[in-house]
Amino acid sequence: MEGVSREIRLVARPQGFPAAELFELAETPISEPRDGQLLVRNAYFSVDPYMRPRMNDVRSYVAPFTLGEAMTGGAVGRVAASRNPRFQEGDWVVHSAGWREWALSDGHGVRTVDASVAPVSAFLGVLGMPGFTAYHGLFELGRPQEGETVFVSGAAGAVGSAAGQMAKIAGCRVLGCAGSAEKVAWLRELGFDYAFDYREQQVRKALAEGAPDGLDIYFDNVGGDSLEAAIGALRTRGRIVACGSISRYNEVEASTGPRNMFMVVTKRLRMEGYIISDHYDRFPEFLARALEWVRDGRLRYRETVIEGIENAPRAFLGLLRGENIGKMLVKVGPAD
Ligand code: NDP
Repeated sequence: MEGVSREIRLVARPQGFPAAELFELAETPISEPRDGQLLVRNAYFSVDPYMRPRMNDVRSYVAPFTLGEAMTGGAVGRVAASRNPRFQEGDWVVHSAGWREWALSDGHGVRTVDASVAPVSAFLGVLGMPGFTAYHGLFELGRPQEGETVFVSGAAGAVGSAAGQMAKIAGCRVLGCAGSAEKVAWLRELGFDYAFDYREQQVRKALAEGAPDGLDIYFDNVGGDSLEAAIGALRTRGRIVACGSISRYNEVEASTGPRNMFMVVTKRLRMEGYIISDHYDRFPEFLARALEWVRDGRLRYRETVIEGIENAPRAFLGLLRGENIGKMLVKVGPAD
């Protein structure tokens, strides 16, 4: 295999909202796989909110990205050559060496996907990590009961749009907020019972109008003001699925939390966080159910696809600004 692969490296750490200059496009030779390795031609890779905290020089549940090295992240691609007995040339695989056109892997954490059941991009979104995040958070932590009221923030994103539709599948009344009129219109199309633009309307007021009897579950993707408003609107024994806090990821100084935390006590609320990579033993169960829902039209999805590896930083910054509807992806190679 001859030629070069392009990749995006992180070359400096951000203060606040990141700039495109923190990234660099570099070329590396494409290497032949050695014993145990496989070479993958990436079709798409994912840009995700969790990548923003990983750009800081702070160890969290994972190590920070290393300066001067290619960024990593979820990707789907086709095996171009394999010297690993688990993979054959031509297999479609999901792996974690994104932000590059070609990836050499030892097979660790790589799984094959069935490209005959869905477009391969879906395995990075509704049938992949974000869909699984919605499923695990909603059903394991939220534990929805038929007739309950669920509020999802970041509802037009990859995780949020899946979580809201899964709550409908569970027989709940569902409210969602997102950052534009176009996103709100899509939420209504998806069957959300009440959808609003949090940039136009105060979350507290919208919840009072959309759920006058209160919430049973809040699926939190954004933290901040939405979390405070949801704590105020939750009913006794309500549950908060602490999935993410994107409104805080670009903060330089940590802001004070919700001012009404004492309501967690008085209302006997349960708030539980999770990291989806801890739960992959349940992934096959999720995938079987999600495929069924996608096929019968109860779980719909959208993707915002940016073409070309050189545009990956723009895609990532766009994600942080809310330029995506559904899953934000970068297309870097053939997808069939
Ligand atoms: P999304 O597809 O939802 O994209 C991010 C969205 O966040 C943007 O489209 C934007 O939409 C919204 N956003 C950006 N800034 C703000 C802000 N200041 N306030 C409110 N919303 C904002 O991303 P994902 O679906 O991949 O992720 C959603 C959340 O889930 C994130 O918090 C992420 O960290 C979390 N997550 C957690 C996992 C876990 O294991 N716990 C795993 C995967 C994701 P808008 O236009 O509506 O503002």
